[in-house]
Amino acid sequence: MTQKAGRSRGEKGPVGTAGGRARWTSRFDEGDAGMRDRLGGKGAGLAEMSRLGLPVPPGFTITTDACREHLRLDHAFPPGLEDEVRARLAEVEGRTGQRFGDPANPLLLSVRSGAKFSMPGMMDTVLNLGMTDAVAAGLARRSGNRRFALDAQRRFLQMFGDVVLGVPHEPFEEVLSGARGRRGAHTDAELTAEDLEGVVAGYRAVIAAAGKAAPEDPWAQLQMAIRAVFESWANPRAVTYRTLNRISHDLGTAVNVQTMVFGNRGARSGSGVAFTRNPATGERKVYGEYLLNAQGEDVVAGTRTPKPLDALRDEMPEAHATLLRLAGQLERHYRDVQDVEFTIEEGTFWLLQTRAGKRTTQAAVKIAVEMVGEGILTQEEALLRVDADGLEQVFHPRLDPAAPKAVMARGLAASPGAACGAAVFDSDTAAQWEARGKTVILFRPETSPDDIHGLNAAQGVVTSRGGMTSHAAIVARGMGKPAVVGAEALRIDLAARRARGNNLEIAEGDLITIDGGTGEIIRGEVPLLPPSLTGEVRELLAWADKARRLGVRANADTPGDARKAREFGAEGIGLARTEHMFFAPDRIPVMREMIMAETEAERRAVLERLLPVQAADFQGLLEAMEGFPVIIRMLDPPLHEFLPSLEELLVEVTTLRVKGGDPARLAQQEALLARVRAMHEINPMLGLRGCRLGILYPEIYEMQVRAIFRAAVACARAGRDVHPEVMTVLVSHPQELRVMQEQLERVAKEEIERAGVTVHYKFGTMIELPRAALVADQIAEQAEFFSFGTNDLTQTTFGFSRDDAEAKFLRVYLERGILPENPFQTLDRDGVGQLIRIGVERGRSRRPNLEVGICGEHGGDPASVALCHELALDYVSCSPHRVPIARLAAAQAAVREKLAQRPDRDV
Ligand code: ADP
Ligand code: MG
Ligand code: MG
Repeated sequence: MTQKAGRSRGEKGPVGTAGGRARWTSRFDEGDAGMRDRLGGKGAGLAEMSRLGLPVPPGFTITTDACREHLRLDHAFPPGLEDEVRARLAEVEGRTGQRFGDPANPLLLSVRSGAKFSMPGMMDTVLNLGMTDAVAAGLARRSGNRRFALDAQRRFLQMFGDVVLGVPHEPFEEVLSGARGRRGAHTDAELTAEDLEGVVAGYRAVIAAAGKAAPEDPWAQLQMAIRAVFESWANPRAVTYRTLNRISHDLGTAVNVQTMVFGNRGARSGSGVAFTRNPATGERKVYGEYLLNAQGEDVVAGTRTPKPLDALRDEMPEAHATLLRLAGQLERHYRDVQDVEFTIEEGTFWLLQTRAGKRTTQAAVKIAVEMVGEGILTQEEALLRVDADGLEQVFHPRLDPAAPKAVMARGLAASPGAACGAAVFDSDTAAQWEARGKTVILFRPETSPDDIHGLNAAQGVVTSRGGMTSHAAIVARGMGKPAVVGAEALRIDLAARRARGNNLEIAEGDLITIDGGTGEIIRGEVPLLPPSLTGEVRELLAWADKARRLGVRANADTPGDARKAREFGAEGIGLARTEHMFFAPDRIPVMREMIMAETEAERRAVLERLLPVQAADFQGLLEAMEGFPVIIRMLDPPLHEFLPSLEELLVEVTTLRVKGGDPARLAQQEALLARVRAMHEINPMLGLRGCRLGILYPEIYEMQVRAIFRAAVACARAGRDVHPEVMTVLVSHPQELRVMQEQLERVAKEEIERAGVTVHYKFGTMIELPRAALVADQIAEQAEFFSFGTNDLTQTTFGFSRDDAEAKFLRVYLERGILPENPFQTLDRDGVGQLIRIGVERGRSRRPNLEVGICGEHGGDPASVALCHELALDYVSCSPHRVPIARLAAAQAAVREKLAQRPDRDV
């Protein structure tokens, strides 16, 4: 549905402004799900549900345009807004038969924020608005329930005080807990009318003490609340949330003004939240929680632990049946899992919100696959329903079931996965410790939106209160982190910074392990086992393999990694680095000997000893990837990386000299020191490395190539189908490649001819310098394949050294929006992407069957994979554990491209 259609319907509404044209508002039944930009997600959901004739309390949405205009006008209401709101309110009064501010039959309102993208709990909502002393008295009379009227009033004062007047919420909490204490009550629901009368008076005093007052004029309340919701767009936690979730700061929030329905009206009333399927496991069963005699915020706040929906079937069977029916209807209508808020007022069922349910990746996969089986989605649509990045969650480690476990407590298994780290008791500490490189688990009685930085820093979260839909649970699931919530047996002592359960105690900093799949909280460290793949994941990935055009390979240096990559679906190795092979304790002395050698002959003699070792390395790799190409990169790093550091040597040599140590050792270390000094470079990243090294010391690469082909020959003799590809590094001029390749190919041929077998091989190069991309046609004369080394290509295109940039200025660049994202994580489309495009075009112009891919971390980043699809590369190569992500991301890019070509589809 387009915006235009929605607006033209809006124009028909009797709005009472000049020409009757609604500029800033939209009645719920005028809008629809396609109008998220103007109505926000919540408003669009309320509109769509109203349009479908579902039970939604009447109301209207003040659009995001009004919010943006308000902020632009320096916090003044846009002209015309006030008149429109009055006219809309009159319509609502007409529909409900109630009047705003009329004690005899009062209309009370909820004023709810709601941006285009869901930002749960980040912005504000005021309930029970329109409440004055006279209205409270009238409501008590009319409902015959004084307790209910006072409960609504105290809620109004607290929310209005907090959200609109900016009174800190602690003193309100003190008044309420004081009342609970005097009554000996565990929860607010046990407070009597008399207690609540005291609470209302106490709240008024709290507000007065802050030098504020809640107006007794409902209209003034409404204006102030609208303004506060507009302004909550810019509150610090909302800003942090948007930055973390890459949501634009320019969108603004809509404001939904809606008739209140009361879940706090007694034992036949209540509020709850429901997911149309289980958001943690994906199980096809309506899943949720509720509280009787409560308003909605009680369920999410985690102050009372709510009951599972199964209990509602016993307590209010009719409402339960209505819920199931509406949940099914919404799910079929949206063709996706919905997360709904509902309220039951004296047996009548109301829907207050619907949105796509946030789910774990495990659940997303199961749901997508099952919805295909149910005929709700096509296979291709199902691929788009799973967040590729999150797929890593499916590969979460599990606790070793055989390991002994000191279980302190068991809570609700709110978000799966296992994590181990140091316990911390507040979010600031979590963030500080994490910044110092510690792994932490956050412990809180419950979390609130103010804990967002702590949740972000922690590996996992534990709360002693709250349910499966508490703040901690929702945020952790969204972040893909393990969470155990509502662990009521756990005593968390914030002051002493300790937690205790099952006679076990921990202090801040002690190691703790949590299992978000079972809800266990365990003292100490429990060994983790690698994860296992479910049938549904395999099925979804099989569909992905059918849909995608890009190949997916892995970066793997060892046979073990190569096997893992294959299990995850890799179709070859895009990059095998060889330097690691020389860092083994038994090999590094040989490398040093080689580096210390004075002559080429001496060097060759030493390399001769490395040859069989290297051949064995390569044979393992080739065998593990039998049937697929294996690209082996020639030694890349500067040689000094194999020598001890200058500082270390200086200290040792000086000590030996001063203290007169072993003269032989002194002589040896002095020689080493001289060599290290001679090899010192100002900027090693751009120094003697890659093919430059190969040109100066060709014997090193010759040995490596000989080893590769000895390995390949051995495999071929054993009847194994292997495909080695030799890759030269850091080429900028075609002549470098020519010189190297001629020399190396001679060695390859020598080995193959001597053995008299056939080996399919290729010679090619990495493209990681801008010049190489620009002269790719010349380079393709030699190279049979290109592999874009996007990490170095990003460094050299931006002129950033990655480590320095990330340590020093990149964070500031991102915070200030100078760069939209870290170019080392997501390929820079305009610059680096452009060079790749040029390289591919020019390379293929000279050699049409040139094989082209990228290697490096970008190969496992969904946005970068999509760009590679667009640039028509043959494959991406990434670390083994990201291979499934790349497979799915490649498929999604292909499906999106296909859908975009179909004009009838919104994508
Ligand atoms: P959030 O975006 O944080 O979920 P909401 O605007 O959905 O904020 O409102 C917060 C709480 O207020 C929810 O629990 C909701 O159920 C409750 N609520 C909102 N509008 C109404 C209403 N018209 N009647 C009763 N409860 C409401
Ligand atoms: Mg809500
Ligand atoms: Mg490189």
